Amino acid sequence: MSLRNKIFSQISTDESYIYIAGWKEVSLVDVLEHTSFTLWTSFCNFNCPWCSNSILARGLEKQKTHINVVIEALKRTYGFVDFFHVTGGEPTLQLRPLKRLLKYSKENLGLKTSIATNGSNPAVIRKLKEVLDHIALDIKAPLNNVEKYSKVIGLPQNLTKIFIPRIIESVKVSMNIPFVELRTTMVPELIDVEDVVNVADDIEKIVSKSYGRVVFVVQQFIPYENILNEEYRRKPRTSPEKVAYAAKEASKRLSIPVYYRTLEHGTKKA
Ligand code: SF4
Repeated sequence: MSLRNKIFSQISTDESYIYIAGWKEVSLVDVLEHTSFTLWTSFCNFNCPWCSNSILARGLEKQKTHINVVIEALKRTYGFVDFFHVTGGEPTLQLRPLKRLLKYSKENLGLKTSIATNGSNPAVIRKLKEVLDHIALDIKAPLNNVEKYSKVIGLPQNLTKIFIPRIIESVKVSMNIPFVELRTTMVPELIDVEDVVNVADDIEKIVSKSYGRVVFVVQQFIPYENILNEEYRRKPRTSPEKVAYAAKEASKRLSIPVYYRTLEHGTKKA
């Protein structure tokens, strides 16, 4: 399969099975101000060199799992969490089982539902939006800078050029979801304060007709040991002061609230 076909294909088309790397029964960091049961799906169509989940994103960690196994685990956390949150990897590569799981947890377990996505699949987000209460959507670099976006997501520029309009479309489609977190990570030597400010300008142009709660979250890069690329494992984490400063500068350009997330201070409003 060519790279192009690979990054545009659905991984799982059987609605009863989903490829996952695991879950955490109670997470405090995946949905702003809420607790969640967080499920990690395997595979991703981007190849970010700094990815902290690169082992599962590249499909090196995957278990083909019946959705009933996930549902049983969800039932055990009943009453302890607000949200069922699915992240990855890229969850939108497994639309059919993902939709079934989200629908079941919302309708039968009374949980709010959430995904984290790189924004590459607006058509999938459109199919999920009725069932979603929250979406965390990455805008990884300024949307008018193909060269930079391509470096951040680890894909050639010709493919990045296809993805950028899709990401813009995903942000627009998400405006119908009650709670939207747009996120940018300050990757060393790739995303600096001025890039965050440029992303803020991009966001301001897109989100003006929002119906629900929309926030922008600036995130710290952390050199987790799971990063496959050794170069990024050795880089220092972004200083919390720099992340806070970038968020403050972004907040001057935006009509939506801005937060920043660091290991040192948790999540704070800019
Ligand atoms: S989009 Fe997310 S999961 Fe995929 S490679 Fe990039 S950082 Fe990793």
